[in-house]
Parts: sequence; structure tokens; C-alpha cells
Amino acid sequence: MAKAQISVIVPAFNEGEGLRLTQQALDGVLAPLGLPYELVFVNDGSRDDTWAVIESMRAATPNGAVRGVSFSRNFGKESAIFAGLAAARGACAIVIDADLQHPVEKIPEMVRLWQEGYEVVEGIKTSRGEEGGAHRLATSLFYGLISRLSGLDLENTSDFKLLDRKVVDVINAMPERNTFFRALSFWTGFKRTSVSYEVKKRQFGETKWSTAKLVRYAVRNIASFSAFPMTLVLILAVILFGVAIVMTLIALIQKFTGRALGGFTTVILLILFSSSIIMGSIGIIGIYIAQIYEEVKQRPRYIVAERFEASSEEER
Ligand code: UDP
Ligand code: MG
Repeated sequence: MAKAQISVIVPAFNEGEGLRLTQQALDGVLAPLGLPYELVFVNDGSRDDTWAVIESMRAATPNGAVRGVSFSRNFGKESAIFAGLAAARGACAIVIDADLQHPVEKIPEMVRLWQEGYEVVEGIKTSRGEEGGAHRLATSLFYGLISRLSGLDLENTSDFKLLDRKVVDVINAMPERNTFFRALSFWTGFKRTSVSYEVKKRQFGETKWSTAKLVRYAVRNIASFSAFPMTLVLILAVILFGVAIVMTLIALIQKFTGRALGGFTTVILLILFSSSIIMGSIGIIGIYIAQIYEEVKQRPRYIVAERFEASSEEER
């Protein structure tokens, strides 16, 4: 049998200026391992020269060690990762950011653990690198919430992972459109371990996530991994019902003791309070309905506009 190949998946959105550095860094740690490897760059609808850079890297690299998939538009990092997993041919796949914030030096350790028989090697952040105060607060809120709600310990996890072929195949076979890679790979189970790493400073360019994109990402992921918010609606209803009973008693007593007037402020407060809970609840349910609608439509997760060696691969 030929030696097991390693696939490295690099999602890239407007990363043209630094992608060559990324390739050099990856080559630097992968070549000494003595195993065959391929770098799968996924161009997530970049508006800069990312695709041209990938193309030129491929032309400069013999044996098809550099491969590329290019989307018809920006579909987001999640889709890019899934396209990479679908294209990967290796016996294991490593997902890593293009900006070198994930330390490539950890790859040999991950590969060694994989060779020892682990099927999922998670990268766990020991520090979050340079993030602003508000961002830090928001992310810790999000991870606290989603870990609690989904029952999966996702705190400090990242998309930096090594997955065995078995796990890649399981993920590739999942039919859902709204995916949360971090949680999904966790959810699959398998024999797992982790390596911890420090998030480095972005080596070039700037973050490709806008606040709006992050908020959408958080809401979708919570909704796709937990139904608790809907239970919350029920809990609020029960609480409100309790309040309603108390208020009813008070109102009746006041009526029969002849003190029925007044209480206008209470009425206004109750209307405002209950209508905001009702609207909030409809909103929560709406998020789930929107998600179900998305799934029902069964649109593809992404559209591939171009790829190298299109003939040999099946489209998803
Ligand atoms: N990325 C992507 N599509 C997007 C946004 C980001 O493929 O819509 C890629 C990006 O090129 C990088 C990785 O996802 O390789 C992480 O993005 P970034 O470094 O901007 O995020 P941060 O590290 O700030 O969370
Ligand atoms: Mg980054």
C-alpha cells in the first residue's frame, strides 16, 4: 500500500497577499514528515487575486500537491471547509486558517497522534490572541451559551483540527445545509484527543469576519445545535401564567371590595411586558422556521465555479 496521504484544507477569502507565505509555512512542516501530502485551497469567492495566486502556486508545484476549488461567490468559511473536505483525497485531513493564526508547528504533533490511532485531533486554544474587549466578551458569551445548550464542550475549540478519513466520510455524508463544523466534528464522536495552541497574531491582512457575519454565525449555530430557546418560550409562558393568576386574584378582590378603579399603570406595564415576550417568542420560533425552510429547499452548500482536475471529482 502506498504511504497514507495527508490533505491540508485551507479556506481563503481575500487572502491573496499572504497565501504564498501560508504555502511555504505548510511545506516547511509537512515535507520533513516524509509522507505524501496535498494542499487543498478553497477560494471562497474572493474579490482579490486569491484564485490567481492559487493557480500560480499549483503551476509551480509538481505532482498535483497543490489543488484548488473556487466558489462562484462568497459562501462563508463553513462552506469552504466542507468543500475542502469533499475534495480531500488524503487518509486524513487537516483544516487550518490561511492567515497562519493557527500554528503550523503543531501539525507534526497532530499527525503523530493520528498515526498512534486517534481519529480526531482537536486544536484547543489556550489564548485567544489579539481580540478586542467587546469581541472577547461576545465570543465567551457565545461559547458559554452553545456549550451549555448543546451539551458539547465547545469552549476554546476552533476549526483547527485533524480528521481521519472515516470522520471526513461521515461529515461528507451529512445532508444538512446549515453546518457548524466545530460542533459537527465533535458530535461525530470517534477516538479523539487534542493539542493546545496559542492563537497567533494574524500574519498578514485583516480579519474577514464582520460583526454582522459573526452574529449571524452565532445565531445559526445555536439554533442548529439546540432547541432550548424554544423551550425557553414555554418557560416564559408558564411564568407569565403565574403572574396572570396573581393579577387576576388581585383584580377580583379589588372589584368585590369596590376599589376597582386605578391600576392603569399595571395594565400598561402588563401589555408592554407580555407583548414583548410574545414578539420575542415569535422571533425565536421564526429563527427555527427560517432554518427549517433553508434545509427543506435543499440548495447546495456552495457552488463551485472552477476547480483543478474537475473530471476526477464528484460534485456535492
Ligand atoms: N474565511 C473564508 N470565508 C469567509 C471568511 C473567512 O473562507 O467568508 C477564511 C479566511 O480566509 C481565513 C479563515 O476563514 O482563512 C479565518 O478567517 P479570519 O482569519 O478572517 O477570522 P478570525 O481569525 O479573525 O476569526
Ligand atoms: Mg484569523
